[in-house]
Amino acid sequence: QILLGIESSCDDTSAAVLRGREILSNVVSSQTDLHARYGGVVPEIAARAHVERLDLCVEAALSEAGLELTDMDAIAVTAGPGLIGGVMAGVTFAKALAMATGLPMVGVNHLAGHALTPRLTDDVAYPYLMLLVSGGHCQFLRVGGPDQFARLGGTIDDAPGEAFDKVAKLLGLPQPGGPMVEAEARSGDATRFDFPRPLLDRPGCDLSFSGLKTAVLRARDKSLIDGALPAQTRADICASFQTAIAETLARKSRRALELCPEATAFCVAGGVAANQTIRTALEEVTDLPFVAPPLKLCTDNAAMIAWAGAERLALGYRDGPELAPRPRWPLDSNAAPMLGSGK
Ligand code: ATP
Ligand code: FE
Repeated sequence: QILLGIESSCDDTSAAVLRGREILSNVVSSQTDLHARYGGVVPEIAARAHVERLDLCVEAALSEAGLELTDMDAIAVTAGPGLIGGVMAGVTFAKALAMATGLPMVGVNHLAGHALTPRLTDDVAYPYLMLLVSGGHCQFLRVGGPDQFARLGGTIDDAPGEAFDKVAKLLGLPQPGGPMVEAEARSGDATRFDFPRPLLDRPGCDLSFSGLKTAVLRARDKSLIDGALPAQTRADICASFQTAIAETLARKSRRALELCPEATAFCVAGGVAANQTIRTALEEVTDLPFVAPPLKLCTDNAAMIAWAGAERLALGYRDGPELAPRPRWPLDSNAAPMLGSGK
């Protein structure tokens, strides 16, 4: 079965062609440069860029795969959650393609795309525990099937990626902050600053990262010498901060696994899973197989959408012209959104 996947929910436009579990192409057009000078993603600019690029991305994905649109068996598209303009652009585009070709179309939840990726890259059986850690999300999910997600816990404020980005900003490092902080941390002493491990005293696997940011701010201000931060101190702050996040995630993962004793594997996805210190800490949490898909498939891409679409199709899900883009779409609601029923 060959699927065309389409993703446009944030600041990456992406199209992919998937044959079974083989990724024939996965084209990602990043808008980072467009938004850089605004210090964040501007929804209006993102929506316009998606409209301009969807066509080109799909064309590039098909030609890289050496296939035509008519060779596809179905089209999968992100129908939410995300920035409404971008999601709308993708859904409208997919509908037009489906209508023109008569191909079946299936709407996919973006987070389900992330959460099902381990089954694209590895032989992971249901149910498994998924820790989704990205710039916008941090949650533990029990994944019981392509349409069965139970949220066991998650952040009550910031996502870890967001914390990395904010800490980088506080320390005068460029964005995206995650890789920069990780690089700085390599020459730092992780024991120098004792940053908080929030919510460890609380039962369950909820997390909190906003206090960490404040602690970093305080450490920075206390360490200034003539208004400047010594390079070694900056490295030490990065290392201590990174270790605090890694330890907190690991401890809470242990608790999440206790809430999901039937799990066959412990999986992580999202940009933050690229961090080597965090990966190592998580790997040591359990004797279960640990699956962290390659970074290219952990960040936003259409191959994961095509895969989630294939899994949904196999269960008999199909969507028609009534498929509606949904800016908010909690993972634990199964049905694809219908026009007029969304929030
Ligand atoms: P979402 O998918 O939840 O909407 P997003 O698209 O911003 O959010 P991703 O693309 O999955 O998320 O990940 C980006 C985030 O990952 C950024 O916050 C970035 O700083 C962080 N990140 C990337 N690499 C690393 C790293 N090596 N260490 C820590 N954080 C990292
Ligand atoms: Fe994402």
